[in-house]
Amino acid sequence: MLAESLEQSYITYEQMGYGAHLNEIPKTVNERYPVYISTQPIWTNVLPFAQHTGGITFPDQMYIARDQPYFPDPNAPIDWLRSQLGAHELYHTIQWTYISNPIGTWLTSEELRWWMEATAEWAQPHVYDQDGQYPKFSDYLLSNPHLSMVQRSLSEGTRAYGSFIFATFLEEQIANGNHVVIQQTWERYGTNPNAGMLTAIENVLVQNYNTSFRDAFPEFARLNYFMNQGTYDFVPPNGVYTDTRNLGSLQNNWPLWRIFREKLAPDIRDHPNDTAAVPVEGPINEPANLFPIQAEATAIDHLGVTYIEFRTSNLNLQPGASADLELTITIPERAGLVSLHRPRVSVISIQDFDGVPHPGNQFIQPQTNGADLEYTTIIQNFQRNNRVVVIVSNFLPVANFDGMDVHYRAAINIH
Ligand SMILES: [Zn+2]
Repeated sequence: MLAESLEQSYITYEQMGYGAHLNEIPKTVNERYPVYISTQPIWTNVLPFAQHTGGITFPDQMYIARDQPYFPDPNAPIDWLRSQLGAHELYHTIQWTYISNPIGTWLTSEELRWWMEATAEWAQPHVYDQDGQYPKFSDYLLSNPHLSMVQRSLSEGTRAYGSFIFATFLEEQIANGNHVVIQQTWERYGTNPNAGMLTAIENVLVQNYNTSFRDAFPEFARLNYFMNQGTYDFVPPNGVYTDTRNLGSLQNNWPLWRIFREKLAPDIRDHPNDTAAVPVEGPINEPANLFPIQAEATAIDHLGVTYIEFRTSNLNLQPGASADLELTITIPERAGLVSLHRPRVSVISIQDFDGVPHPGNQFIQPQTNGADLEYTTIIQNFQRNNRVVVIVSNFLPVANFDGMDVHYRAAINIH
């Protein structure tokens, strides 16, 4: 079954345009690329200690643990062995061909390690479109949106696997459904590896899609907030999705957003029409929290997001009265940043959370106030909305801007 999976993955990736790189995979044993079947933990001839994992892929050899769970029924639609260990690991093999000094670069570049796992996870359903378990780490990313998306320590990869959704976003929303955008990031990286993976992605966005991290990332943040109809609407064609992790099946004909949402924490997965799919500061909807309010949001790492919600559920206005929501978002000590490095703050007034199309990001331009950046706006007739969400995106390109503080002030002006 593993051989069948590797074969199917090879054919699929060839059809997706990776043929030249499949030909570059080193053939080190009898003119073949060796795949070793092992017990778990896996001992390799490269690493000095055993690995507790299902598969390890080096540039010139692959190790697969034979005791991974799979359905012994060869007619079962999909299983862990074929998707995670065949499709996922073979995509790693392709990735290695884009990387010069592969092991050394892997050890030193976190953004490379991040994009390797994100796109190997993304590649799985392109081979087996009934694979309903590939988004299994979504919640590790989306439950902590304020942490940097670009994380993959040498030992811990869950947020990187969950970042498959950024690759899905690039494919579906930026490239209009064309998977080639992911290959372009690898091609770009291969031609200029010293610039790093984030720069490669940025170059592809700018040169091929007339956008940039600065524009695309807040849009990604907006879609993840709603994550219902109008966001990731693609419906895989073959119906039955198997979740090999839970040994159960998802429903037929679900769009991707529902499959993704299934992997979130229970309290947000069950309310696709009401509750944001990401944690929010607040929501500011209890009488004790009513305005004016001054608060500090969770600090945001680079390529991280925070969401602040203001709900109208407890306004209790007199008949005929209206309420303006006055908002000031303050980023302390960042007034010295050049414009391109400043955080982006958008405000979205939402009348109907489930209504499509969803309202778009409305960006606020900052003013400097001493050492601080201030973003100020007034939402008139706040009471006509179900809620207002503020999305703050920190996409400074350097990690030493982690932990950016955000303060906000809100007041209601009733008239
Ligand atoms: Zn992997």
